[in-house]
Amino acid sequence: MNVFENLESEVRSYSRSWPVVFDTAHGSRMTDVNGRSYLDFFAGAGALNYGHNPAVLQKPLIDYLTRGGVTHGLDMMTVAKAEFLQTFQELVLAPRGLDYKVQFPGPTGSNTVESALKLARKVTGREAVINFTNAFHGMTLGALSVTGNSMKRGGAGIPLVHATPMPYDNYFDGTVPDFMWLEALLGDSGSGLNEPAAVIVETVQGEGGINPARIEWLQGLSDLCRRHGILLIVDDVQMGVGRTGPFFSFEIAGIQPDIVCLSKSISGYGLPMALTLIKPEHDVWGPGEHNGTFRGFNPAFVTATAALRHFWADDALERSTLAKGERVATALGELAAVSQAVELTPKGRGLARGLSFEQPELAAKTCAAAFERGLLMETAGPSDEVMKIMPALTITDAELDEGLALVADSVRAVTEGVSS
Ligand code: PMP
Repeated sequence: MNVFENLESEVRSYSRSWPVVFDTAHGSRMTDVNGRSYLDFFAGAGALNYGHNPAVLQKPLIDYLTRGGVTHGLDMMTVAKAEFLQTFQELVLAPRGLDYKVQFPGPTGSNTVESALKLARKVTGREAVINFTNAFHGMTLGALSVTGNSMKRGGAGIPLVHATPMPYDNYFDGTVPDFMWLEALLGDSGSGLNEPAAVIVETVQGEGGINPARIEWLQGLSDLCRRHGILLIVDDVQMGVGRTGPFFSFEIAGIQPDIVCLSKSISGYGLPMALTLIKPEHDVWGPGEHNGTFRGFNPAFVTATAALRHFWADDALERSTLAKGERVATALGELAAVSQAVELTPKGRGLARGLSFEQPELAAKTCAAAFERGLLMETAGPSDEVMKIMPALTITDAELDEGLALVADSVRAVTEGVSS
């Protein structure tokens, strides 16, 4: 392990929570060099919705590589890219009645967010962007400017400007109708709020603590944007590709954002890939105005196409995700109901679930206890107060039950010693 401590930067983080060297992975399990197997309730922070190395994607990937398919292609036209675009149109956009042009930005979530912010500013000629409390959109400067977390923002070392934070749904615990705040400011010429280019929102905040916005709140936000000529950007980097059930997390609200950011699980194999979906009337980019060397990583297009064909030709995955999500919600509800000394609050939608601890430090302790028991889970939220449960959508019922039993055991081990 010393090579990591000696050579790798202090910036490393997950390796501190899980101080073992992983070697192989399959489905919902990772194995370390000593042969110990860990059940994965983390799923690459949402990048592995179909689990590790799924055979249905591995085979086409290996075939593509061995036949000498183009690996690196900037934004050249390739067979792999054409097949991806056609399949995406056929299986994702058309059945949902969505009309988007597809931009390939650099292959990370931050890259798609940067492209979305730049494009919204170009389309509207305005500078300001509205973001929300506890939002997370990435680590590059533009994405960081619309991110809430003060520790991450501090890393910028320069002022992060041209973004105005507004209260996310339920920020005031239902005591104040928080959505009205933004509406009132937009309508008040004395509010001091510059006319924004865009609003950027997660339908369920992932890193911010698994906070789902109510459907009516999302609908209200979409209406408000339309009335004021503000572009609505949904950042579906973590909650898209089926994490909350439907392919896009905003589908349940029946809204059609102007721009959608996708990354993480879109390649389906953990290969880097990102998309920025743009309503055709907003596709005002000049050729090469936003480019990047790794926009055409063709092996990712191959696995993305195979994933869409295998998992999204019908609604079976969506239904099973919702059912598994209910199973997790029930288990978390039971834990909360019996917890005496510590108030536990279950939250989430689909298979993006969390358990919030009244004493924030107990969430990390519970994740550490889970790791000792062979379960990988991370924390989320501004004070890391939420234990985050994000298994692969393809996890089996038996594995889900096994993991939930380990969660219950870990929560009990940590909370029973706490006096009220
Ligand atoms: N947006 C959201 C909603 C995210 O959850 C993340 C990553 N956690 C990002 C953007 C940034 O993605 P990346 O780490 O790939 O840059």
